[in-house]
Amino acid sequence: MQALTSRSKTVERKPMTIWERLYIPAIAKGMSITFGHIFKKKPTINYPEQTRPFSPVFRGLQVLNRDEEGRERCTACGLCAVACPAEAITMEAAERLPGEENLYREEKYAAKYEINMLRCIFCGLCEEACPKDAIYLSETFTAANYSRQSFIYGKKELLIPHPKLQPEAYEKAKGQRVKR
Ligand code: SF4
Ligand code: SF4
Repeated sequence: MQALTSRSKTVERKPMTIWERLYIPAIAKGMSITFGHIFKKKPTINYPEQTRPFSPVFRGLQVLNRDEEGRERCTACGLCAVACPAEAITMEAAERLPGEENLYREEKYAAKYEINMLRCIFCGLCEEACPKDAIYLSETFTAANYSRQSFIYGKKELLIPHPKLQPEAYEKAKGQRVKR
């Protein structure tokens, strides 16, 4: 056992009063809190269709962004993957071919872009690292799945809807961008 030094301080335990030893006041106080919650009127939330309001800084599912013309903004530069502390992002770059200018904004694009949602810690560093405004975190949370493989989200899950082909879905997804 370690010897007490000159700077040690002995703390005296205060003896409990008879009232405290009865425990009845503490039990009554605890029960009053429990019953207060049981009979408190709370609005019904039909989860998962409805949820409580999220915190303004909630960071959810990533979205791969398009420009106003509907072209993919990502150039597969890899900066998001480098910034990701969870090593959750992988991608494969490809060269844009003549005639694909309406699909991809720059000469290179991500032919494959994947985020492993089981690794992601929703820190937002991928968004901060991206020089092309090509990825952002939204207010949508990752859905439950039945297999680990289903948590690897590719472009099909991540890419924002096309602004001209699906304008309503595009506006909705854009509106879910977490404001910083
Ligand atoms: S939010 Fe963080 S952990 Fe998730 S993919 Fe982006 S950088 Fe990686
Ligand atoms: S999302 Fe941004 S940072 Fe990541 S590869 Fe695409 S352009 Fe680069």
